[in-house]
Amino acid sequence: MRTRTQVGIVGGGPAGLLLSHLLALRGIDSVLIEIRSREYCEARQRAGVLEDGSVALLRDGGLADRLDRQGLVHGGIYLQFEGQRQHIDFRDLTGGRTVTVYAQTEVVKDLIARRLADGGAIEFSVTDTEVADLDTELPVLRYTDAAGTRHEVSCDAIAGCDGFHGICRPAFPSGALTMWERDYPYAWLGILADVPPSTDELIYAHHPAGFALHSLRSTTVSRLYLQVSPDEDIAEWPDDRIWAELARRFELPGWALQQGPILDKSITPMRSFVSAPMRYGRLFLAGDAAHIVPPTGAKGLNLALADVAVLAPALDALLHGDEQAAANYSATCLQRVWRSTHFSWWMTTMLHRTPGADEMEMQLQLSQLRYVIGSRAAATSLAENYTGFPLPKGDG
Ligand SMILES: Cc1cc2nc3c(=O)[nH]c(=O)nc-3n(C[C@H](O)[C@H](O)[C@H](O)COP(=O)(O)OP(=O)(O)OC[C@H]3O[C@@H](n4cnc5c(N)ncnc54)[C@H](O)[C@@H]3O)c2cc1C
Repeated sequence: MRTRTQVGIVGGGPAGLLLSHLLALRGIDSVLIEIRSREYCEARQRAGVLEDGSVALLRDGGLADRLDRQGLVHGGIYLQFEGQRQHIDFRDLTGGRTVTVYAQTEVVKDLIARRLADGGAIEFSVTDTEVADLDTELPVLRYTDAAGTRHEVSCDAIAGCDGFHGICRPAFPSGALTMWERDYPYAWLGILADVPPSTDELIYAHHPAGFALHSLRSTTVSRLYLQVSPDEDIAEWPDDRIWAELARRFELPGWALQQGPILDKSITPMRSFVSAPMRYGRLFLAGDAAHIVPPTGAKGLNLALADVAVLAPALDALLHGDEQAAANYSATCLQRVWRSTHFSWWMTTMLHRTPGADEMEMQLQLSQLRYVIGSRAAATSLAENYTGFPLPKGDG
């Protein structure tokens, strides 16, 4: 079946869904295709920390009813090392900036509900997705829908929001992309637990046995992580072992880690990856399709939202004959991408133990952590990077 739309969007994660909404607010039609089912997308456990700029973007888009009611505003984080837990006060250090804890699953649910309520075209559970005719002004999106019908959609532009393993980045002609990649020699074993958090704000713990993070998803659900080996077998981690290791890495006199049923358990590799440019002709990449950061800096979701905040007005202008913002799209986004890539790498290497590393690594990390706690300038740098920088203007 042959159809026509203004913007074809590949991928129904936060980037693709928000883009389809922002375009609709500008009166631009889109067709969004997603290989997974709606249920799968709404249950996939991932990020949970929103920068102020991301919250403002969702609020300005009329998407923050639940976020404003259920999101937990945090004014700092704790850094734990050498048996002490120290608070980094974002509000004080940045003139009032905060982050909001609201799970990516909830962002995705809000976006899907809104697009469907507004009559947006989202096709879940599609297969055999392809992008073609990328050297023309009318690229084509092909897919087979859940009922088995093959579709060919001619588009004024295509947005590749299909994550790291998607099809859009590989569709760039050979030589069109430069890629930078770093794999880390560790992974995160993450759990979602049906237990109230044992902390009011996130705890980042440096420990001789490896990094641990106490995060949360709500006042009743905790999210915790342990540094493990990338080839760790999750079957080797029964619930008791996970709780014992978490208790060991977060140990502090007078403080206890509350335990509860584990609802979800997974191992995530750690990678830094940037590909540039984020545009080829009328194919634009956004979010994880173009860049990946290790989750230590809580940046992946925020970067995905920031990209499409720039892309929506750029596509609007392009569709009205003004190429300038589309020409600037990649450079505009990459400035933020590289800042977040550096910050995520810095947080990661400061807090994780490299397998086989000597004692010197430990001493260098501890020196850096003491500096962050002891110097207002160093703490401010962490705070302003963590809370995020204002979103760039989309037309520039
Ligand atoms: C396991 C995991 C844990 C994470 N934890 C954190 C965290 O704690 N903190 C943090 O900040 N970030 C975290 N991240 C990163 C963060 O979740 C991502 O940066 C964010 O999801 C990026 O959004 P996106 O829309 O660009 O990509 P995605 O959310 O990956 O969405 C891409 C969508 O495209 C779909 N798709 C893929 N291929 C195709 C295709 N061929 N056709 C159609 N659709 C396709 C996928 O099914 C998916 O729904 C985590 C990521 C992972 C994978």
